[in-house]
Amino acid sequence: MTIRTRTAPGDDPGAERVPSLSPSRAADFMTCPLLYRFRTIDRLPEPPSSEATRGTVVHSVLERLYDLPAGERTPGHATELVRPVWDELLAAEPAVAELFADDADGSALTAWLASAEELVEKYFALEDPRRLEPAERELYVETTLDSGLRLRGYVDRLDRAEATGDLRVVDYKTGKAPRAGFEQRAMFQMRFYALVLWRLHGVVPRLLQLIYLGSGELLRYEPDEADLRATERKLAALWAAIERATESGDWRASPSRLCDWCAHQALCPAYGGTPPPLPERVDAVDDDEAPSPRTSPVDA
Ligand code: SF4
Repeated sequence: MTIRTRTAPGDDPGAERVPSLSPSRAADFMTCPLLYRFRTIDRLPEPPSSEATRGTVVHSVLERLYDLPAGERTPGHATELVRPVWDELLAAEPAVAELFADDADGSALTAWLASAEELVEKYFALEDPRRLEPAERELYVETTLDSGLRLRGYVDRLDRAEATGDLRVVDYKTGKAPRAGFEQRAMFQMRFYALVLWRLHGVVPRLLQLIYLGSGELLRYEPDEADLRATERKLAALWAAIERATESGDWRASPSRLCDWCAHQALCPAYGGTPPPLPERVDAVDDDEAPSPRTSPVDA
């Protein structure tokens, strides 16, 4: 089983740092440039969140589910994985114990584990894992665009049709599907992955599929080359904006309802705070795949 860590394969602190972007950090900048700064430039620590940690556990359970023989991929076997996955996460990242520091009788942990099991059970209403053999799970992908910008991230699951070789990119969300009109924003992350896979393999994935366990819904999209070229242009524009902010030091706060889940309100001018001085060495280099999409109940 993989408990996804924050550092991408091949990262070497002494190596030359090249411009790079993951969907999580791109989403941060689009949500709030100051949030991007806090996470990517200042690298401020964040306390574990209940929703993000549950997202990590559920993702790991769904990844591990496919280690079982097809016939054993049942709701019962899947929910049995929740507790051991939590124990492994606790061993790998002891800081998550903070979530239950005041839980003297263990009831909060029991309820939280039950909520994770519930999400895992909902998965079975959306797909039949006995009929699927993923080509890849928790796949690290990376490519460098002609502009020199490196794109990278983790794909939850990649399916390849045996007959045609068509690719389906699948991502699990433990939150609810977006409201009507907000689907395209949710699909941005998937187009990002599709662009990377297209550049890597020369083939546009046939289908992008988001699985929302919170509301028991699927969101699907069939991308084409024009879509992915548009995504590349959008990422280039986004990176140019990040570079401008890096040079000027002007990282604007952009308050929204997502502020409710921001760990840095106390340092945010929108809430009366003062950001710390910028570090002397400022690189807008996204060195990790910190779990931004799972930091709020909206996107977890
Ligand atoms: S509190 Fe809101 S505006 Fe301030 S940094 Fe966080 S997300 Fe941005």
